[in-house]
Order: sequence, then C-alpha cells, then structure tokens
Amino acid sequence: MKIAVVKEQAAGEKRVAATPETVKKFKALGADVAVEAGAGLTASIADADYAAAGAAVGTRAATLAGADIVLGIQGPAPDSLGGVKPGAWIVAGLNPFGERARVDAYAAAGHEALAMEFMPRITRAQSMDILSSQSNLSGYKAVLDAAAEYGKAFPMMMTAAGTVSAAKAFIMGVGVAGLQAIATARRLGAQVSATDVRAATKEQIESLGAKAIFVEKVAGIEGEGTGGYATEMSDEYKAAQAELVSAHIAKQDIVITTALIPGRPAPRLITDAQIATMKPGSVIVDLAVEQGGNVEGAVAGEVVERHGVKIVGHRNVPSRLATDASALFSRNLFNFLSAFWDKEKNAPVLDEEIGNAIRLTQGGKVVNERLLG
Ligand code: NAD
Repeated sequence: MKIAVVKEQAAGEKRVAATPETVKKFKALGADVAVEAGAGLTASIADADYAAAGAAVGTRAATLAGADIVLGIQGPAPDSLGGVKPGAWIVAGLNPFGERARVDAYAAAGHEALAMEFMPRITRAQSMDILSSQSNLSGYKAVLDAAAEYGKAFPMMMTAAGTVSAAKAFIMGVGVAGLQAIATARRLGAQVSATDVRAATKEQIESLGAKAIFVEKVAGIEGEGTGGYATEMSDEYKAAQAELVSAHIAKQDIVITTALIPGRPAPRLITDAQIATMKPGSVIVDLAVEQGGNVEGAVAGEVVERHGVKIVGHRNVPSRLATDASALFSRNLFNFLSAFWDKEKNAPVLDEEIGNAIRLTQGGKVVNERLLG
C-alpha cells in the first residue's frame, strides 16, 4: 500500500495534505508514504522533516509511481497523475459541484475519487470533517483580517489621553466559522452580536457572551434542514431579516458574514444600500465570497471600498493559516483512512454509509447520487 502526497498546484494554495506526524502514523499502520519534494514548504514543513518521519521524498513522478492512494488538499489535475495504479483513490477536497469536469476526468482515467467535503455529519465522522476543521480557522482569521483593515482598536481602552470605545462586531451565520469568529472578536474586546436562520444557534451565541439578533414572529423561521445545515428561507422571512439587519448594521464597525446553504449560491445578506448606511472606516469580511458572496460588491481575492467601507474578500482563507490548516486537514485524512484500515489487506475498506456519501467515481463512471440527481 503506497500513499502519495503531492505538492498542491492551485494558485495561492499553501496547505499540504500530510505532516510528519501523519506520515509516521501511516507508516505505523503499515503503509509506505511518498511525498513530493517541496510539498510542505509553504506550510513551513521541510523535506528533511518528512524524510525523518519515514517518507520517501522525491520527484512528482517518483512519488506517484505505483501509488494506491493520492492525498491532496484540492483535487490534483487528472493529467498530472501519471504512474498511479489503476483504480487508485484520489482523496482530497474535490469541490465536486464547482469542478465537475475534473470529476468526469477522474472517472475517465479509472480513478476512484473520494470527496472529503461530502463526509456525512455524523458523530463518528466528526474527526474526519475537513469543512469543520478548516472553517474554524477561517472564522478566527476573518476577525484578524478585519482587525488589520480597521483603523481603530477593538477593545475599550481608558487612557490618560482619553477613552477609546470598543468596536461593535456583528457575525452573520453562526456555523463553525461564525462561532469561532464570535469567540475571537470577544477575545479581542469587541462588543459582539450575531444572527443565523437556525433557531438552535441563539443559545450558542448567548453562551459565548454575544447578543443574539433574531427574526421573531415570522412563520417557518426554523431554518434547520438535514444534517444541521440551513435551508432556503421564505420570502416573508427574508424581508423581515433584511429589515432587522438594516436597523442593526448601521451601528456596526465590523461585520463578518459566513452564511452558506449546501449546493446553492450563498444567500445575499447585505445590499449596497445597507453598506451606504454604515460608518466610514467600517470593515466587512465576506467568508462566502467564493460561493457567490453574502455581500453585494464583494470581490473574490480583493479588498474593495464602497461608501468608505472596506469589503474584504480573501480567497481560500484557511490557506492563510497554512501550518495549522495543514495539520488539521492531515489529521482529518489520517482519521478517515485509519478508521477503515483492514490489517490483513493492509488497505482501507470503506463501509456503505461513508463510502456512498463521499465516493464520486468508480469503475470508470460517476457514481455519487448528489452528482447524478
Ligand atoms: P455552513 O458553513 O453550511 O453555513 C454557515 C452558517 O450560515 C450556518 O449556521 C447557517 O445556518 C447560516 N446561514 C445560512 N443561511 C443564512 C441566512 N440567510 N442568514 C443567516 N445565516 C444563514 O454551516 P456549518 O459551519 O457547516 O455548520 C452547520 C451546522 O452543522 C452547525 O450546527 C454545526 O454545529 C453542524 N456541524 C455538525 C457536524 C457533525 O455533527 N459532524 C460537523 C460540523 C458541523
């Protein structure tokens, strides 16, 4: 059983899908591990550290030659996978809806592509969940990015020269990223409020010491769908939410939006007219910018200014914390493969529940029902 770890090729991707720690653990399971030279450099991991952990460090061709499993952060280009075994597993964040042509190419090449972001949200798969591990870091980094763009301090400071008032931060969308954003903004000393469509988040917001801003008295406000994800809301709800947000947002210094609905474009939460009511110098960070954006005018990969308000739209926020993001992503991959490791076969064997959820291609065909529907 040979596991290959390739250097990421996507522009701006600094993470790597294995660390010396996970290399050692895979070796202890009985696998051979090969790492492409330079794969860890952007996450501050030297080739020598992989070698010391027992990996064979070499060229991409040598790394992939005879590989049974290829690990990546993002899906490797199908035409860059020469030398892997027929039917080899490609295990990564494969962006199945956004990169459908690549999924088809994996099928055509006979690879078995496993999309880590399709991991079901069940208790036993929590330690394998890349969306959670990466979103948590994004929520933290979003607050730091906002603080860096903001021309004032977050905490209240009473000094001999006078008092600096605390920043008011509003977090929209309280999933994994939003919860971490609340906690981080609180630690920096901001006055924090937050909103979500799922009623269950109200208690979570309050338990972190923030103020919950919720639409009340509108029919069908329970926005929770399957797997704890949000659902699309009624028009009546959307109107009530827009009104509530309009009144609140004008008083905020920092707004962080994280709202996503699986398989759909991100919901629009802030309009240009609402931005115009905010104080000049305020900062909005749109963590959903790559999924269509929660904020009108946000541009992926840029910091833009509208009505004196900065709108931050960094791409691939977890990669901005590449070392920790790599460590957690790598553990997710190890936790996944080791949970299914068959000692006799010296290979992982998936069960139906998780296998059917994450397997995109098999036997030359696309097999995942979310892609066939
Ligand atoms: P997500 O990234 O899909 O969405 C972020 C947040 O945006 C969600 O809280 C969602 O309700 C919210 N949202 C969507 N539309 C909105 C709108 N119009 N206005 C305001 N907010 C809106 O969510 P996530 O971080 O993946 O977390 C979703 C849930 O899944 C959470 O309850 C989380 O605890 C749970 N979860 C469970 C597991 C597990 O059991 N293994 C793992 C991870 C997350």
